[in-house]
Amino acid sequence: MNKSIVIIGGGASALMLASLLPKNRVTIVESNAKLGAKILVSGGGKCNITNSKMGEAYFLSNSDDKPTLSFVTDALKIFTEKNLLQWLERQNLVPVIRKDGQYFCQNSAKELLDIFLKECKRQKVLLNENVIEVSKKDELFFIKTNKQILKANIVVVASGGLSFPKLGASSIGYEIAKSFEHTIVNTAPGLVGFTVQKEQFFFKELSGTSTEVEIHVDDNLCKGALLFAHKGISGPSVLDASLYWKKGKVRIDFLPNFSWNNLKSSKKQISSLLPMPKRVTKAFLIQFGIEDKVASKLTSNELKQLESLNNYIFSPAGTFGYSKAEVTKGGVSTDEIDSKSMMSLKTDGLYFIGEVLDVTGRLGGYNFQWAFSSAFACSREIK
Ligand SMILES: Cc1cc2nc3c(=O)[nH]c(=O)nc-3n(C[C@H](O)[C@H](O)[C@H](O)COP(=O)(O)OP(=O)(O)OC[C@H]3O[C@@H](n4cnc5c(N)ncnc54)[C@H](O)[C@@H]3O)c2cc1C
Repeated sequence: MNKSIVIIGGGASALMLASLLPKNRVTIVESNAKLGAKILVSGGGKCNITNSKMGEAYFLSNSDDKPTLSFVTDALKIFTEKNLLQWLERQNLVPVIRKDGQYFCQNSAKELLDIFLKECKRQKVLLNENVIEVSKKDELFFIKTNKQILKANIVVVASGGLSFPKLGASSIGYEIAKSFEHTIVNTAPGLVGFTVQKEQFFFKELSGTSTEVEIHVDDNLCKGALLFAHKGISGPSVLDASLYWKKGKVRIDFLPNFSWNNLKSSKKQISSLLPMPKRVTKAFLIQFGIEDKVASKLTSNELKQLESLNNYIFSPAGTFGYSKAEVTKGGVSTDEIDSKSMMSLKTDGLYFIGEVLDVTGRLGGYNFQWAFSSAFACSREIK
């Protein structure tokens, strides 16, 4: 007899899993009125599906005692980025590759969601239904929702993390895990902007401008655009840096690859010379108390101050929080999950896939690849 399966959550990982399983085998329970809400807003509306550069180096745990996350390797091998692209191609979606190996939908994230919605027509979907708790008696799971109690032989928790509560995020996955004696690694907002302390309040006046930087958080280097925002700083390099930052200082190089050698002999204004938007250079000049003058007139002390832009020490006040974070760091500890099937090592028949686990990908399509690879690994086991 086929075992009945309930998937908690109707986001990226759940939709992939339900698409891979035979007809009428699954009940998806989703608290939103629609499936896949995050897919639609992802990647600026085009969904960064995966990346040509893949491997454990692009994934983090939020646990202090795990410098690398070898847990992800099995699932990433079972369903690689190439397997994903082939699977999508069979569904007539050929993602386009952009910079840094990132694959996006051609025109809109809806292209990906539509594939899942078509595939999931074969399964039972309960919308506007909130899972409240899960228990197990003998070999049967009881899934209590706000409307009924469902029974299943297998439960897959695909309820994601805490980020973007307006799109349905909740802590239910962690609560279920705890009720089955799983450990939760501390959670925090990830892929999120930094708020600023008093010394950097002038950043806020630069809102809307962006400049290429390199951010060092301990030994980790995050390159790309830094966007000055109303609340602080954001942009790809900052989002990536937020994955490594817990507290304390980060170091920003505002002028990576800029050579100071010819500056002393230049007849150009400093604000025209430095490779940053003029507005940004001028704001720093004001902070340093340096006049925007011909570069050759800079005193050696002033030059030294400007050179400090290669090594700008910045202590974030905090982050923009879960409401703006693309992901949640931390989650269900991977120490208690089988890496080949995603099954709980504590309770037979209970599985965790996607972001609810203590697995966070860097910026660039890694979080969807994880959602899909972990779903695929799980599907092989419960088919
Ligand atoms: C703005 C934004 C942009 C992003 N862009 C990208 C990108 O371009 N590339 C990338 O790789 N990643 C991106 N991400 C991250 C990516 O969306 C997530 O990592 C991924 O969706 C996780 O999949 P999941 O299935 O684990 O969880 P989710 O997709 O979050 O799905 C979980 C589902 O569970 C439901 N749920 C929660 N609680 C309950 C409950 N009690 N009962 C029933 N249902 C419940 C939720 O409503 C939700 O639909 C982005 C995230 C955001 C917020």
